[in-house]
Amino acid sequence: MNMIPLPFSKEFGVEPNGRSNSQTHTEYLFRYPVGDDSRPGPLNLQEMLAGHLRAILDLVTLTWKGKRVRIDGYRLLDEPDLDHPLYPEVNQESAQYADRLDIYEPRIPYIRQLMESIHSIVDFEYQGEPVRIDGFRLKRPDQWLKPGGGAADILAQAATRCNLKCRFCYNLGSPLVFKETSRKAEAEYREILARIAYYVPGSKLGLFPDAGSPCEMLTHPYIPEILTALRRKTDEVVRIPTNGSLLTPEMIQTLSQYQPLFVDVSLNTSSPSRRRWLMRDLEPEVAINALAELESAHIPYSVVIVPWPFPSLEEMVEDLARTIAFSARFNPAYIQISLPGYSRWFSNETLFDREEVWNHLKTEIQHLRTVTGCPLIIRPGLYEEYLDPEAIDTPRLIGVIKNSPAARAGLVLGDRLLGINGLRIKNRTQARSLLGTVQNSSLEKVSLNVERSGELLDLDMDLNHFEYPFDPRTVPYAGCVFPSAGIPLNWMEQLRTMMATEKAREVLILTSTLVRPMLGKRIRESLFPADVHLHLRVPANQYLGGNIFMGDLLTVEDFIAAVKNFLDEGIVLPDLVVIPSSPFHLSGWGRDLTGRVYKDIERITGIPVGLIECDPIFD
Ligand code: SF4
Repeated sequence: MNMIPLPFSKEFGVEPNGRSNSQTHTEYLFRYPVGDDSRPGPLNLQEMLAGHLRAILDLVTLTWKGKRVRIDGYRLLDEPDLDHPLYPEVNQESAQYADRLDIYEPRIPYIRQLMESIHSIVDFEYQGEPVRIDGFRLKRPDQWLKPGGGAADILAQAATRCNLKCRFCYNLGSPLVFKETSRKAEAEYREILARIAYYVPGSKLGLFPDAGSPCEMLTHPYIPEILTALRRKTDEVVRIPTNGSLLTPEMIQTLSQYQPLFVDVSLNTSSPSRRRWLMRDLEPEVAINALAELESAHIPYSVVIVPWPFPSLEEMVEDLARTIAFSARFNPAYIQISLPGYSRWFSNETLFDREEVWNHLKTEIQHLRTVTGCPLIIRPGLYEEYLDPEAIDTPRLIGVIKNSPAARAGLVLGDRLLGINGLRIKNRTQARSLLGTVQNSSLEKVSLNVERSGELLDLDMDLNHFEYPFDPRTVPYAGCVFPSAGIPLNWMEQLRTMMATEKAREVLILTSTLVRPMLGKRIRESLFPADVHLHLRVPANQYLGGNIFMGDLLTVEDFIAAVKNFLDEGIVLPDLVVIPSSPFHLSGWGRDLTGRVYKDIERITGIPVGLIECDPIFD
């Protein structure tokens, strides 16, 4: 059998001549292989049709007169009396996908499946001779644009390698599908140039991401060229997360040419010996000295700290306090403290007690806020109000960014916002939303009503009155810092609509440990018909395991187990399962972090599932 000769090398996505001229970016081919023998093709014609139908149903929701229609089988028109089940062998086994496109752009794996299955039924011909194909390419990449994360998504494609080996590196504990892939830097560069060429600033339309867990983008040999090309295309803020090891004075000088920038420096510790040990950074002084250099270059930045509870909890806490005090001297916009965790992929052994470590850290950080002139943000933010009913959804400030309009208006740590320009504020989501709106409006001044230690205050805020490190292009909410967005304001409305559409009375709501207190509060404050029963449950994070308990990291497999556990309780058979969409936020295609579509939950449990729009809470 002949092969159609393909005019490019075996490394998919790269032309063979290896030209590095940036003018060639539009020639870059987005190419994908087909014919992998590890994927069995259909056994017969009918299996081919069923396979296509299943694949289509993982991409679309069928409707009739505007209402969702669910199907679990089909009949061929020439055999109208014979039922064929669509999912005879669906089970709850975890699906181990190896292709990130299953998550980010499942239409490409769908095309591959289509071609492979057709190829297993018929032979293609070229000039009367049978031929085999071994790949396909996108004819018009511009047809594949969709709204996304803008410059950050493009830059993430450059963050494919790292020069350090942190002891806590999350890449050691991430599922296989997100592991780094090794490609030649030249190939990555050419792809990134093509992504920049197709990018539509303003609407932030870009090509679907296809990168693994981000590593250190400053190690990419083409980073200056990439930043130059990106800056030519857009003046949007470029956000650079970095471990700091390459932030030499020269690098900071180079970066300063690409403003507006915001740099997140993973400093982790201000102690050279601890950084050498923790991150295996042989030149720890570079990152430590970088804070002063960033300040002199007037590049807004944040400091990121992962407190790692080794060799002891006490040492971690002492080092955290020292690192915060050191960092605050160089005016970062804020300091982020990411509470430590690990998955079963990182360690099967129990490394530390999460509750003990997180509680200890929360108490310490809340104390350090009172003596540090820089906002300290705990991530995940909802942990601030975990087990603290008074704090739930409260529009109280956990910090104010130095020299911001909020700071200059006189707002301080602990203030509770009660109103903006006469509009009453009931919760934190509302406060963030209103501040975001006024910051992006043409308003110059706003009035604030504030409660401080039991006293009511009226303050005036001038939105044009600010200086470094505040920059409205890089920092939101006029400099006010809150713990976390939490649940969107329209959550309850979405829930009511979904229940009405499904005529549901017994509703199982699956949430996370951190969101549950806030959700419970919102439900108590909302009105539901007396015959409606809402059952809240928290699925265990079995897929990632370890001590991970973030709801955004739950998988389809975890949700199926949670529904089954609820059924085992024997309370009631729910007629609707409701899940926040954030565990499926990666691409908008309803896939979890293994690439599995959420519809498998209802296919396996037999109970309708609805997703409620919800952003990830890790902010
Ligand atoms: S800098 Fe980041 S990617 Fe690199 S080893 Fe450390 S945690 Fe991992």
